[in-house]
Amino acid sequence: MSEPLLSVQDLCVSYGRVQAVRGISFDVAAGTLVTLVGANGAGKSSIINAISGIVRPSAGTILFEGSDITRTRSHSLVPRGLVQVPEGRQILGTMSIAENLQMGARSHTSGSASAIDEMYQRFPVLGERRKLPAGSLSGGEQQMLAIARAMLARPKLILMDEPSMGLAPKIVNEVFAVIDEVLAGGTTVLLVEQNARRALQAAQEGHILQNGEIVRSGASDALLADDDIIQAYLGTG
Ligand code: ATP
Repeated sequence: MSEPLLSVQDLCVSYGRVQAVRGISFDVAAGTLVTLVGANGAGKSSIINAISGIVRPSAGTILFEGSDITRTRSHSLVPRGLVQVPEGRQILGTMSIAENLQMGARSHTSGSASAIDEMYQRFPVLGERRKLPAGSLSGGEQQMLAIARAMLARPKLILMDEPSMGLAPKIVNEVFAVIDEVLAGGTTVLLVEQNARRALQAAQEGHILQNGEIVRSGASDALLADDDIIQAYLGTG
């Protein structure tokens, strides 16, 4: 088997006495969408923030393309192709859509005007409204802007923290359609979600988190077809 794009080994994250992540391991193969699902407080954001260099792990190893990035800061990871779309999106509402994209583009060379134009083609709603404040976009559109901004770095791996949070079901579908497109364009995706069923439908592989530990892992299809898992973790709906 070829080397995974990302390999997380025995990762632990603590905040003082709170052990948020307790020795988890998983791999992400290039070209796939892998999801970590779990309830509020299960440790999903801590894992993704540790991978992207925002939070310092207390133990464990993180390999990206075979190189140890366990203690590499996020600004050094972006040019290497590892980018995070943050939870809550961090869109600057009073700045225009164009300015938000230009700001995102400043940190890397690939963020040229033509790269921004490419994003306007991919996300026409952003192009049509480029001069308007980003705060005038709907929640789903703001999520698209956040994804477009991250895609300007031409990442190999994009980390997404609950992109469907707070969105109406129809808009959730639109955001997942964008995620499918990102994947189809060749970018590998690690997605953390509370919306377990929807995330597993989009993913090839899933890991179910509880109290900072992985309690079940497998092909998404198999997890979704397992009645015990559905009852225990995904609700019966
Ligand atoms: P959510 O969906 O609420 O973001 P999550 O699954 O992403 O949940 P984390 O945010 O990683 O979970 O939190 C895991 C545990 O760590 C929780 O008990 C949380 O209260 C705690 N925690 C997270 N960040 C901090 C922090 N900065 N300081 C102290 N405790 C924290």
